[in-house]
Amino acid sequence: MATGIVGEFLELKAETDADVLAMQCGDFYEFFADDAEFVADELDLKVSQKSSHGSSYPMAGVPLSELTPYAKALVERGYRVAVADQYETDDGHAREITRVITPGTLLETTDADARYLAAIVREGDVAVDEYGEVQHAGGNGAATARTDRTDHTEPADGSGGPYGLALADVTTGRFIVTEVDDESDLRAELYRVDPAEVLPGPLVRNDDAVLAAVREELSGSVSLFDAEAFAPGRARHAVREQFGWETAETVGLDSELAVRAAGAVLAYVAETGAGVLASITRLQTYGAGDHVELDATTQRNLELTETMAGDGDGSLFCVLDHTVTAPGGRLLREWLTRPKRDREALESRLDAVEALAAGALARDRLRETLGDAYDLERLAARATSGGAGANELLSVRDTLALWPELVSAVEGTPLAESPVADVLGRPDHGRARELCAELSDALAEDPPSTTTQGGLLCRGYDDELDGLIDRHEEVQRWLDTLAEREKRQYGLTHVTVDRNRTDGYYIQVGKSVADEVPDHYREIKTLKNSKRFVTDELAEREREILRIEEARGALEAELFAELRDRVADESDLLQDVGRAIAELDALASLATHAAGNDWTRPELVEERSLSIDAGRHPVVERTTDFVPNDLALDAERGFLIVTGPNMSGKSTYMRQAALIQLLAQVGSFVPARAARVGLVDGIYTRVGALDELAQGRSTFMVEMQELSNILHSATEDSLVILDEVGRGTATYDGISIAWAATEYLHNEVQARTLFATHYHELTTLADHLPRVENVHVAVDERGGDVTFLRTVREGPTNRSYGVHVADLAGVPEPVVDRADEVLDRLRAEKAIEARGGSGRSADGNGGSGETQQVVFDLSSGSFARAGEGTTRGADDSGQGADDSGQGADNETTDDGGNAIDEETAAVLTELADVDLAETTPIDLVGRVQRWQKRLDADEER
Ligand code: ADP
Repeated sequence: MATGIVGEFLELKAETDADVLAMQCGDFYEFFADDAEFVADELDLKVSQKSSHGSSYPMAGVPLSELTPYAKALVERGYRVAVADQYETDDGHAREITRVITPGTLLETTDADARYLAAIVREGDVAVDEYGEVQHAGGNGAATARTDRTDHTEPADGSGGPYGLALADVTTGRFIVTEVDDESDLRAELYRVDPAEVLPGPLVRNDDAVLAAVREELSGSVSLFDAEAFAPGRARHAVREQFGWETAETVGLDSELAVRAAGAVLAYVAETGAGVLASITRLQTYGAGDHVELDATTQRNLELTETMAGDGDGSLFCVLDHTVTAPGGRLLREWLTRPKRDREALESRLDAVEALAAGALARDRLRETLGDAYDLERLAARATSGGAGANELLSVRDTLALWPELVSAVEGTPLAESPVADVLGRPDHGRARELCAELSDALAEDPPSTTTQGGLLCRGYDDELDGLIDRHEEVQRWLDTLAEREKRQYGLTHVTVDRNRTDGYYIQVGKSVADEVPDHYREIKTLKNSKRFVTDELAEREREILRIEEARGALEAELFAELRDRVADESDLLQDVGRAIAELDALASLATHAAGNDWTRPELVEERSLSIDAGRHPVVERTTDFVPNDLALDAERGFLIVTGPNMSGKSTYMRQAALIQLLAQVGSFVPARAARVGLVDGIYTRVGALDELAQGRSTFMVEMQELSNILHSATEDSLVILDEVGRGTATYDGISIAWAATEYLHNEVQARTLFATHYHELTTLADHLPRVENVHVAVDERGGDVTFLRTVREGPTNRSYGVHVADLAGVPEPVVDRADEVLDRLRAEKAIEARGGSGRSADGNGGSGETQQVVFDLSSGSFARAGEGTTRGADDSGQGADDSGQGADNETTDDGGNAIDEETAAVLTELADVDLAETTPIDLVGRVQRWQKRLDADEER
């Protein structure tokens, strides 16, 4: 066991569950043993060896003032860094852990994005905690100990939700709590905020689905925190301590799960010692029904904040973001990912955007002024944590000082009659003016970066300080004029008075006259061309000036801390002003984009409709010569089947509809000549398995889960976008599912729906279901070439142009020709064929080597032998297929006259549908085993 300083380090390290410990040793923070190796590796620090009682330990260190950037780098990589500080005691000094910097409590971030700490609580088994309240049975009392997941009992029901969710951004003091119904809603919310750190509650730790989602879809890390902090009694206590006894009730926080999550977040922030609890003054809740549901998949599919490939560039946010402040950017991002359903609030935003879009001059002036604003919410948190220096308080002052300018940018312009003026009027101007004046009176311009050297505060702020400053100046004047006096008095030339670290103040005399100095000069140093002297009087003045400087440094540090506390006390004011600035910036950004891109104000209507005149895709129109398209969805025509060749523009058309709907509910103008938009309660999208396969995340199971979620969640007030459904499975499975999903959405859910499909068979649904209509993306086909017109027209396409695209893409001639042939035949047969390979045949002969063809007839839904002599033959009417369907319970025959039953046919079709490029060998073996089993079972029948 190590003793001495390394022993102390290891003891402290054992107290914390942080990944690394930085321990103060004098002017350095040191890392020892494994931690030294680890940080040296991560941060490129030099490792030396520290001997301690006969053993040697790796050691790495950083100067005190440089810990922040190093710790920040570690924390941004997801590690937790404990900091142990040294303090004086009667018999020397001691050390203790004062702070644990974690991804979710990192204050020093320079990233403009919000940084959330999230806690998730799930309904489940409960026991009684020390407040006499029930708590989770899975709770582990060991404070902050990392817990083994198998320690916990599984919830009885094993299903997800509801969940309580609390989100705190310690860098801005934002605090949001909510309860969500199920796992999908939870994931949607987590995806939206992308927390830096997640604290799963006791049962959530066992919730593999949630944990997997957190790990796979989010960039943040997971920390296991004291399970008792999630217990109801303790959590409610923490919430009441923080926000006052009434707040929880008045903001409508009646969800116990939400309270428990909130309590855990507060306890965690307290325990990490970030010192920002005081800036978390407001509890915000989301009620159900105030926003548009956007599940995680939809947020991703619509590329709201990042593209499908994971880039920020090319996202809707990136295109729309013309904000000039960090908080404005954060707010715009929040608006885009959380559209509203409150019509009045939306009309108000639209009024503001309209006024700002119309008044370019006033808008420019407003934006220019906003551009000088600092991030007040973050500055408030820095003041509260005690981390703010004089420069940061100056930033607070300068930002508050912008307020009159903002007001005058709006006064006398049409903006004064718009909600822009309301936003400006919201913060307490009197208080803002007062704080601004106070800071102006207190702070010196160009202060030093440390708070202990003086020079932070200006004259007139404090009498005692003024006295010290006067005295300092007096002595300084004496020193400044000393050289002149000495010259005059003693007839010396070449005399200067100066100060340096080693010699202190000295009189320097040129060599030539050095012998003529008076007797009371004491020589302290001989240089090449001069000598340095001191006198008793000079030494006395030196002591005095040092005394004054020290006293001034201490007094200023004290006064500055008071001033900072005063600013911290006003953190709610700063948050108000900061929020108003963010709002103005976000509104002006929307207006700037609208004005620059010919967007129009959407008309929000009561009816269930989405009617777009010459709409465009907000992102694609930036880079393409875009062909605008109309859309009409309403009560009579609520379901559009969109057909057209690959790459013709189906996805773009549907996404543009979804984005126009979304933008309208953000309160933004939209890319269209005109749009009448009925508000929706949710936008749901599901894009083709093939697109997603490219992302390496889709399986047929995922596709079906997403479809299932839509069918469960969408309502008659929702907008549903389906871009190919059922592609990830065998053709007839796929068609059946797409068909049934269409009927269900049309008959039961009655959501406004756009459904792009390559199953042309579905277009016949328009004949049967009253609200289903067909539209197609037109192409011009002449001389065997295809030109994409990008124009959407009424009615279905009658064929697939995939082969032409293959041709355009340079697929070899013979393949294209053969594909044309096959296509012709398929069309003639109005059927889809599946080729079965050689192998075990239904009659049990096995391995005959013959190719079998099974044809699935779409019009009858039955199977038939393919090739010569099928019941269908050249009969275009599909009658023949019906006949074949009347055979012995879907049995058909193979070439040898043997009966093939439905199961065998199904196996063969599945076999034909296997995409070898997308199937792993192990998967393939599994499938073959299952097929064999099914065929064996068949034989036995
Ligand atoms: P699909 O879904 O039919 O396969 P996409 O919607 O992916 O086709 O569109 C294919 C390409 O066509 C995209 O690169 C897109 O930029 C372009 N495109 C789509 N619609 C338009 C349009 N209306 N005007 C101009 N280009 C378009």
